[in-house]
Amino acid sequence: MRSCKMPSGNEMPVFGLGTWRMGESRAKRAQELDAIKYALELDYPMIDTAEMYGDGGAEEMVGEALAGLTKRPFIVSKVYPHNASRSGTIAACERSLKRMKVERIDLYLLHWRGGVPLIDTCDAFLELRRAGKIADFGVSNFDADDMVELSSVDDRLTGTNQVLYCLSRRGPEYDLMPWMRDHAIPLMAYSPLDQGRLLGNATLKKLAGDLRCTPAQLALAWVLAQPGVVTIPKSMTRERVKENLGAVEIKLSADVLAELDRAFPPPKRKQSLQML
Ligand code: NAP
Repeated sequence: MRSCKMPSGNEMPVFGLGTWRMGESRAKRAQELDAIKYALELDYPMIDTAEMYGDGGAEEMVGEALAGLTKRPFIVSKVYPHNASRSGTIAACERSLKRMKVERIDLYLLHWRGGVPLIDTCDAFLELRRAGKIADFGVSNFDADDMVELSSVDDRLTGTNQVLYCLSRRGPEYDLMPWMRDHAIPLMAYSPLDQGRLLGNATLKKLAGDLRCTPAQLALAWVLAQPGVVTIPKSMTRERVKENLGAVEIKLSADVLAELDRAFPPPKRKQSLQML
């Protein structure tokens, strides 16, 4: 599978499994755990999680799914903004490591901007990195002006900015993505299926039919066709976990990309970054 280089020089896989809404309900636990284990069996190279998801429940399930594996995927997790002080970030990371029963998180992100000065969070990330508890660090839900401010406060971000980006939400293409490309920072696209809302679109369905793939695969293949972009669709069903991975093999022609541009036009002016 392809990977993307981060500012640190380390590589990040272009595709992974999301885990938001997992670990919240006892009734769904067995199915969710099965979906994560199945993704790992299929060699999903990356898992995205956060201390927020299921209040630690998603990280615990990731830990359970990883138990006994010899080759583990690239792990992404996130710290809550209200925990992101110097000492709070370190303590939150240690709790996440414990829940996942791993010694290191490959990419650790500030989940969104909060009240803690960015320099404090960055200092904590650097300390965690020195201690070998995380390999790289980054942010999430940062718009272009946040990235400019971050780089003026502290230009040491080694990883990514994880944001809402998909066919139906192309706002980041206007200014955020050009800024990130100029700084060689890959973008991690979350909610690449717009949480399923995208999949009923008539053009997407028709084009997918022509290409003999599913609308979800086409939506994911489009995200993956954008330079410097990686993505992390979530599913708790085996069929969809497998279906979504199939998107990695799909190459889109210039004609298909142009038809998608007509159905989902790129932004003509600044749109503030949306968040889910
Ligand atoms: P998503 O991946 O766009 O969509 C997930 C939804 O689509 C689920 O309801 C899933 O249902 C359904 N689905 C998945 N594959 C499908 C398929 N092949 N056909 C039809 N429906 C399908 O949305 P997301 O979970 O919001 O985003 C992905 C990940 O990004 C999250 O899980 C999380 O890890 C991360 N994220 C981060 C932030 C942030 O603030 N940093 C915010 C949102 C998300 P089933 O599960 O029933 O299959």
